Amino acid sequence: MTHSNPENGPILSMVSSLRMRPRILVVDDEPLILEGISRLLAARDYEVVLANGGCEALIAIGKQQFDVVLLDLGMPDLNGTEVLRFVAERGVETPVIVVSGDSTIDAAIRALRGGASDFVRKPYEPEELLRRIDNTLTRRRLEKENNHILQRLQQSEKWHRFLVNSSPDFIYTLDSEGRFTFVNDRIESLLGYRKEDLVGQHYSVLIHEEDIPRAEHVFNERRSGDRNTRNIEIRLKCNPGMRRPRLMNGRCKIVELTATGMYDDEASPFDRRFIGSYGVAKDVSERKQAEETVHYQAYHDLLTGLPNRALFRDHLGLMLAQSKRNKQPLAVLSLDLDHFKVINDSLGHTIGDELLLAVGTRLRQCLREGDTLARLGGDEFAVLLPTLLSRSDVEHICRKIIQVLSKPVYIKGHEMYASVSIGACMAPEDGDMVDSLIRQAEIAMYQAKTQGRSRLQFWEPGMQAPYSERMQLEADLRRALARNEFVLFYQPQVDIKSGEIKGFEALLRWWHPQRGLLTPADFVTIAEESGVIVPLGDWVLRQAGAQMAEWRKAGLPPVRLSVNISARQLESPDFVDNVMRAVQVYALDGKLMELEITESLLMRDLEANALKLGRLSATGIRLAIDDFGTGYSSFKYLSRFPIHTLKIDQSFIKEIDREENMSIVNAMVGMGRGMNLNVVAEGVETQAQLKRLQQINCHEMQGYYYSPPISSHEATLMLAHHLRGFSHNNGLATA
Ligand code: C2E
Ligand code: MG
Ligand code: MG
Repeated sequence: MTHSNPENGPILSMVSSLRMRPRILVVDDEPLILEGISRLLAARDYEVVLANGGCEALIAIGKQQFDVVLLDLGMPDLNGTEVLRFVAERGVETPVIVVSGDSTIDAAIRALRGGASDFVRKPYEPEELLRRIDNTLTRRRLEKENNHILQRLQQSEKWHRFLVNSSPDFIYTLDSEGRFTFVNDRIESLLGYRKEDLVGQHYSVLIHEEDIPRAEHVFNERRSGDRNTRNIEIRLKCNPGMRRPRLMNGRCKIVELTATGMYDDEASPFDRRFIGSYGVAKDVSERKQAEETVHYQAYHDLLTGLPNRALFRDHLGLMLAQSKRNKQPLAVLSLDLDHFKVINDSLGHTIGDELLLAVGTRLRQCLREGDTLARLGGDEFAVLLPTLLSRSDVEHICRKIIQVLSKPVYIKGHEMYASVSIGACMAPEDGDMVDSLIRQAEIAMYQAKTQGRSRLQFWEPGMQAPYSERMQLEADLRRALARNEFVLFYQPQVDIKSGEIKGFEALLRWWHPQRGLLTPADFVTIAEESGVIVPLGDWVLRQAGAQMAEWRKAGLPPVRLSVNISARQLESPDFVDNVMRAVQVYALDGKLMELEITESLLMRDLEANALKLGRLSATGIRLAIDDFGTGYSSFKYLSRFPIHTLKIDQSFIKEIDREENMSIVNAMVGMGRGMNLNVVAEGVETQAQLKRLQQINCHEMQGYYYSPPISSHEATLMLAHHLRGFSHNNGLATA
């Protein structure tokens, strides 16, 4: 039998031991004796090899393995003692039975010292010789089997040691006193200790101080089997003196420990002797860290690092329980930045985010250690004041907050003011439920906003939530189109010099069944946010088209009609088609239709808007820049659009008597004229304002001074009257 693995010595020797017939070498210089023994052995199932003298014996031993050698001592060529020495020196394991005529005890001792395993005197008793051979063979077989088992044990021990040491887990055994008797290699990479340094030490050297009581319970585990301790989390300390602590990633490792008691099996089953314990510790630091990150993200606002709504609710719940026990009131504040949306929309999210961060920092400075500051979302913050005595304490803190936040914030060269409106409610006075307290504070905050912002408002029973009002309005708005509740009002735009009506601006009104006539300020934002503005804007376009067709049919002079366009409408992919359809359906002259768009809206998506408005302009439709002067656009960009009209925002006209406003309006009119644009002043309310505009050669005006927005019927009458009056009179006398 061959085996390709050279390391399998034990396997080969096992093969030889399993050889069916034992092979025996008989060495003697007397042929008669050789023959005699061989005859004796022939009766047994042995394979017998004969060697006539010492030299032949050495050759035979060199060639083959034998299970027993029967060796004569006195031989002329090479005596038995020398053969024995040869066998011993070569490490041949075959047992040698010396069969010698030298019957002295001395000869026997010498032979046995020389390595013989037995000594038989010649002349031998055949039975005796056979018995000795059998004994030797049996002994040899047992020895071989033992060796084999031992080798297997050693091999298996090696494997287990290897497995234990290359385990990713820390594995140890403790003696009954709690001292390490074994630690695997993992300890070095896990905690930075050398194995030798730990063995003999008490386990507590590894345990984080705070975990020692818990660790005692685990490390003193005496139970075994299924009742042992499993997966207890414990912090193990890294070796403070290790060379490369950074590799260890922190001073502690969190492990999950499973420990089992060990007992002396030899002892009586009724009185098992506890000899220590062993355990496996799995490093779960990374998993813990990941869990902590997830937990952190679930409970914190990632921008400011402040607790989020979920954590705020948790804290509030805890503090409510405590305040109940201590009979001490607590307060919940809801804070919302005033006009944050304007900053975010006009200066961008990055600056908006920085402002929120700055606000967070300032708010924190106004609070004490135990107070909770959270960001609930957007520009809404919440504060929990757990130890307050009275409302005046709340007032005091809020005054401080409002004052601190009223100071300007400088971000990337912008000076900003971040005032807040604050709503407050108290527990247990106003309730003792987490969500309703937060909600009440929010309701009070909205109240504070409607009362002029940058102020504190306490919640009061019966305060209406603006949310539900808003939601109601949104629901109403969705039905309003189908129910025909919208109407257009028209406000004339008049030539400043001649007083001639050049056009009308269509202004949307909503006849709300319960609330009466609403202006865009009441509903346009909701219409924008809910998307209702898109079909609504389309309705406005068609309604305006219908009105113009009606005036034409009535034989009235052709006047321009301006329609306001909202963001969602302009962004809608159907925008261009919708406008063109409104013009085509009523076969209108495109030049009479003007679209009013604010400059900030135009700038939102420069490329797309320039494309859309270019297409409309090609059909003659006009474009007016609404609320001019309030946006951030530059003329460089505006020149990309086919603009016909500049509408100077009413805020400039309102204070036109202030010198700086006068010069701004003057510049705007000059610029418009220079670009060949029609310049319209909005919100003209007084004669003085009109005079000023006349001085600086503004083209047209629109405002209460001439006429407020009027119904379709009134506008038709005005146009008809104007037509007649204008032909006699000249100018504004008709107003
Ligand atoms: P706007 O386009 O700047 O319209 C002028 C606003 O100024 C109108 O308010 C008008 O009633 C008001 N106004 C006119 N003359 C005077 C005056 O002498 N003094 C003062 N203080 N105000 C004057 P209104 O009708 O409430 O509309 C407000 C805004 O709502 C409009 O501002 C426009 O941006 C928007 N809007 C109006 N109709 C529509 C519409 O059909 N669609 C869209 N998307 N927006 C519309
Ligand atoms: Mg307008
Ligand atoms: Mg305007």
